[in-house]
Amino acid sequence: MRKKLIAGNWKSNLAKSNAIQLAEAILEQGILVDFELAIFPPEIFIDSILEVVKSTVKVGAQNCSQYTEGAFTGETTALQLASAGVQMALAGHSERRHLFAETNEVVKLKIDKVLSAGLTPVFCCGEALETRKANEQNNWVEQQLEESLFHLTQADFSKVIIAYEPIWAIGTGVVATPKEAEEMHEFIRKKIAAKYDAATAESTRILYGGSVKADNAKALFSCPNIDGALVGGASLKANEFLAIANAAK
Ligand code: PEP
Repeated sequence: MRKKLIAGNWKSNLAKSNAIQLAEAILEQGILVDFELAIFPPEIFIDSILEVVKSTVKVGAQNCSQYTEGAFTGETTALQLASAGVQMALAGHSERRHLFAETNEVVKLKIDKVLSAGLTPVFCCGEALETRKANEQNNWVEQQLEESLFHLTQADFSKVIIAYEPIWAIGTGVVATPKEAEEMHEFIRKKIAAKYDAATAESTRILYGGSVKADNAKALFSCPNIDGALVGGASLKANEFLAIANAAK
C-alpha cells in the first residue's frame, strides 16, 4: 500500500521570518497519520526550517548540483545537502528545465548525485500544452523517463518518487482533470512495470502536480494511481496546504 505524500514547493518565495512561520503553522496543525508531508523551502532557510520541523515533516531541496564537489561557484551539491540534514531533492522541475536549460541528460546526472548522497529524488516530468494538443504527451513523458531514470538499477529506481506535472497546469490555475492525470499516472506505472517489474511499479509513488488546491485534491487523490501531490502556490498557506493533505485521508 503506497502512503500518500503531499509535498510543498515554496520556490523562491518568502523571507526567512515568513518561512519559519509557515513551517511552524504546518507543524502545529498537521496530524500525520494517513499521509506524509514534505516541504521544499528556499535552500538558504533549510537549516532554520529543519530546526522547526525536526523529523515530523520531511525537508527537501528544490535543486541540487550535477557535480560532486569542487569549483562550481554558486552550486550546492547533494553531499552538502545530505550533510545539512536534507532528505529529498527535486530533479527536473519544469521551471529548471525551461528557465535554466536543464536537459534530460542534466536531470539524469542530478538524479545520480541525489541517490549517491543517500537522498530521495523527486523526479518531475510532464509535457507542454502544444505537446498535449498534438496528443504526444505519452511519448514525451516516456522519453523523459527513458533518458533520466531508466538507466537506474531496480534497487536505485525503487528509491525514486515521480511527480507528473503537466507544464500547462503549473501556476496557471488550470488543473488536469482527474481522468487526464490518472491516464498519465497509469501509463507511467505501466512503463515502470515493463522496464523493471510489477512489484516495483506497484510500490513507486507517483505524485500529481499542477494547480492542486483544497477543492480539487480529493477528486485527484481518489484516482487509483495518484499517490499524492507536489503543490506550488497553495503550499504557501498552511491552512490550504493542510486541507490538501487532509483530502488524502
Ligand atoms: C509546482 O511548481 O511544482 C506546482 C505544482 O505549482 P502550482 O501548484 O502552483 O501549480
